[in-house]
Parts: sequence; structure tokens; C-alpha cells
Amino acid sequence: MPDSKVTSTTAIVWLRQDLRLADNPALAYGCRHFQQVIPVYIWDPQGEADWAPGAASRWWLHHSLSALDKSLRERFSQLIIRAGDSQAELANLIDTCNATAVFWNRRYEPAVSQRDADIKNWLKDELQLECRSFNAWLCWEPWELQTGQGNPYRVFTPMWKRMLNEWRLPETPGIPDSVPLPEQPPESLQLDQLNLLPGLDWDKQFYQHWQPGEQAGMRQLQRFTSSALGDYLEQRDLPAESGISRLSPHLHFGEISTRQIVRQLCPDGYPAADRQVNGYLRQLAWREFSWQLLYNFPQLPHLPLQEKFIAFPWRDSKAYQGDLVAWQKGLTGIPIIDAGMRELWVTGWMHNRVRMLVASFLTKNLLIPWQAGQAWFWDTLVDADLANNSQGWQWTAGCGADASPYFRIFNPVTQAERFDPMGDYVRQWVPELDAIQGKAIHSPWTLDASSLQALGVELGKTYPLPIVDLKVTRERALAAYQRIR
Ligand SMILES: Cc1cc2nc3c(=O)[nH]c(=O)nc-3n(C[C@H](O)[C@H](O)[C@H](O)COP(=O)(O)OP(=O)(O)OC[C@H]3O[C@@H](n4cnc5c(N)ncnc54)[C@H](O)[C@@H]3O)c2cc1C
Repeated sequence: MPDSKVTSTTAIVWLRQDLRLADNPALAYGCRHFQQVIPVYIWDPQGEADWAPGAASRWWLHHSLSALDKSLRERFSQLIIRAGDSQAELANLIDTCNATAVFWNRRYEPAVSQRDADIKNWLKDELQLECRSFNAWLCWEPWELQTGQGNPYRVFTPMWKRMLNEWRLPETPGIPDSVPLPEQPPESLQLDQLNLLPGLDWDKQFYQHWQPGEQAGMRQLQRFTSSALGDYLEQRDLPAESGISRLSPHLHFGEISTRQIVRQLCPDGYPAADRQVNGYLRQLAWREFSWQLLYNFPQLPHLPLQEKFIAFPWRDSKAYQGDLVAWQKGLTGIPIIDAGMRELWVTGWMHNRVRMLVASFLTKNLLIPWQAGQAWFWDTLVDADLANNSQGWQWTAGCGADASPYFRIFNPVTQAERFDPMGDYVRQWVPELDAIQGKAIHSPWTLDASSLQALGVELGKTYPLPIVDLKVTRERALAAYQRIR
């Protein structure tokens, strides 16, 4: 028997937003080719530049890391947890474990991918180690699909058509049989030492709404495919129904991959015959589109992609502060807006249709820059995702690459009457209006004071009066747009 100390080879698998064991190409590669594998997570918020995870994301991250550690322990391994500068922590691990290779799955946020490229050069050129990165995040690399002129796509539909023509069923490696940790594992922090959970218990309701982790993500996918996928196109815009997958935080933390979803929904290849399945995959394609936009236009989180919007006459921050707070707290007096913002605060998530309405209300009726809303979402969403969030805000504000035209201003009342016809969604999140029957709940100010009083509602007291006149602010927004056309 050769001396195992001499012959054993050790690889570090650096886990980041790929917190799963299945379809994890970096982990699969390490386990296939190395005798010892060290799965490590490094908490390095500074390495994320301006986009360190917000408070709600940290909550999710804590539980996701805990679930991953549990799954690894079931395979006689464990998650090694470190905190600090990523390169310094990797250097320490390489040194203490005599590792000869480092693997990870790619991330595409501009600052992070630059950092990763620097680390890869250092590992390969200076330390002469083996270093490989893999795609575990997207069906297509963000540089793979280009227009006929060789440019990145700025418009979704042509990219979607191209995807349909060239769809391929990706390989999804299974869970490794074993993740062999060295007998003496390197030092690890306790998860609690990362202080990811909030000091105040504003997160207590999150536990009723979410279960982070790979297994919970898979269960959520099964639930969705067996109960809601069949009516996805009819139900996906109705916030009172459970017609959507609610997989976004699981996807964001890489507890499940789009490739696994595609494989499960289209076992016979793609395009699928089923229009509901296609409709769902079209939404996943929006995710691919957003990520290729962020990769090719790294200014996406900060600057409008339509340059003329740099000069847009937003209101002054001192003037809008009170309105911004009313919006954040769900106290604008427009029920569907308040319902969405309260759902966000209580659950860390909001339905897509309502995200569009609250974003439109903020940027158009309140004339508050989209970056202020994007920042609030970043802190409060459990699925806060740099590409999807930035793209969603730019789309709604009308300044993005493939944006809804600025002059199409959602009327939150008519939208609510259409997509929440019985008012059930509003009733759930704005209980002070509970007694108002039917769609009148969407515009309580149209009811006379005595009817409201009979229902226990006093506008300005039990529920706010609207902070703006929707018609007047619509005209104001259109006039502002005229100044940059
Ligand atoms: C202003 C605004 C901000 C947003 N911020 C985020 C964000 O931070 N993180 C995030 O994941 N999504 C964001 N979205 C997109 C969308 O609202 C969510 O992905 C969706 O609500 C998640 O719910 P679901 O998983 O049930 O979606 P489903 O309808 O079940 O869709 C499945 C998956 O497709 C992807 N997807 C769906 N719609 C979109 C879209 N419009 N753009 C990109 N990907 C999409 C998501 O990964 C989603 O999980 C934002 C949208 C807007 C308008």
C-alpha cells in the first residue's frame, strides 16, 4: 500500500451561489478526480463591491448554508466556513491542506467575475495550481448567444427565438457518491459566527413562508409541476393565486439550477409540446436574458441603458424622502401598492405583477429614481439578484434595453381590478380594508364617507388617503419624459 500522505491529492471546491450537491459541476469534478475534497464557503461581503447581500438575502443564506452542511455531513463531509478576503482564505486553506487544485462554478456579477479572474491568474501563474471554473448558473454562457451582427442581445424576443432554435438538453451531473474530506479537516467557523441572521426578529414570518435549501427547492419544483404548471399561463399574473413556482430564491442561491428544471420539464428534449411548459421556460429565459445583459452591459445596476435617461428630471431626494418612506412601509393609500410592499416586508418576496406595479408607481407617479427602489428591493428580497433586479427596475422605469415604453404608465387601480378582481390579495395584506367587498377595495376613496364608516374605515385615520393623485402624477411623469425625448 502506498503511503496515503504522499499520494493523496486534495482539491478545494469553493462554493458560492451554487449551494447544492446535485448538478454541481465543480463539486462533481473535484470528487471524480481527487482523493480528498474540501468544500468551502467564504463569507466575503467586501468582495461583492457595492452589492453585498442585503438583510433578507443574508437570512436565506444562513439557512441555505446550514442545509448544505447537513447534506454534506450525511455524506461524511462538512462545509468548511471561512470569513474574510477570498484570496487570503483560499491561500490559507491551500497551505494548510496541501491542496493542488481549486474549482468553482462561475459567477457573472461584474466585480465578482473580475475578482475571480484575478484569483484564477494568481492560482495558475503564481502558485502553479490546477484551477477550473464551470457553468452551473445558466443554460447559455452570457457571451454565447449573439445577434446576427455579433452583438449582445438588447431585446428579449429575438434572443428567446434563438434559444428555441438552438435549445440543447444540458448535462446535469448527479450528487457525488462521496465527498471525501481529509481525516483532519481544516478549521471552520461556526455558521452563527457569520452573524447573517438579524438581531431584531423582523424575520419571524419568513419561517412560515420559506424553507431554504436544495431539498426544499426540489420539493417546491415538484409541488409546482404537480399543482400549478398546468395553468401557469392563465394564473401567473394573479397575485392571489398560487400559480407561480416561487423558485426565485432557490435559483438565486443555486439550490436548484435552470438546467435541472429544463431536464425535468422536457425529458424528451426541447421545445416542449406543452404550451404551459414553454410559457414557464420563457420566464426562465428572461433570467438568461437579464444575466447576459448584466455581463455585456456591466453598468446595468447603476446607469440607465438608454443614455437619454441619465438626464431624466427625477425629484430631488429631500423632496421625495417622505413619499419613499410611505412606499417602503406600504402606507401610500393605494391599496395594491401597499399590499405588495407589505408582502415584501413580511415574506421577503413579492409577486411579479405587483413588483411591476410598485416599481411603476415609484418611478412614474412618485418620480423617484429607480435606483432607490432597486436598493430597497436589494435589502428586503430573499431572491435579490443583481441581474434580475436591475433589469426589472430598468424595464419598469422605461430606461432599460428592452423596456416597457416610458409613456405606458400602469394605472395601479385598473391593474388591480384586472389582476386581483375579488380584492383577495389586497385583503390579505391590507386587513384594515378587509370589510370592503369586491373591487371597490382597490379605490376606497371613491366610496362615500358614510359607507366607509359603516365598514369601519376612515381614510386618513384607519388607512391613509392616497399620497398622490394618480391622474395628476401621470401627467407630471409624461411632462418629465418630454424633457428628455
Ligand atoms: C422591479 C422588479 C424587480 C425584480 N427583482 C428580481 C430579483 O431581485 N430577483 C429575481 O429573481 N427576480 C426579480 N424580478 C423578476 C420576477 O419578479 C421574479 O423572478 C419572480 O417574481 C419570482 O417568482 P417565481 O419564482 O414564482 O417566478 P415564476 O413565474 O415561477 O418564474 C420562474 C423563474 O423565472 C425567472 N423569472 C421570472 N420572471 C422573470 C423576470 N421578469 N426577469 C428575470 N427572471 C424572471 C425567475 O428566476 C423565476 O424564479 C423582478 C421583477 C421586477 C419587475
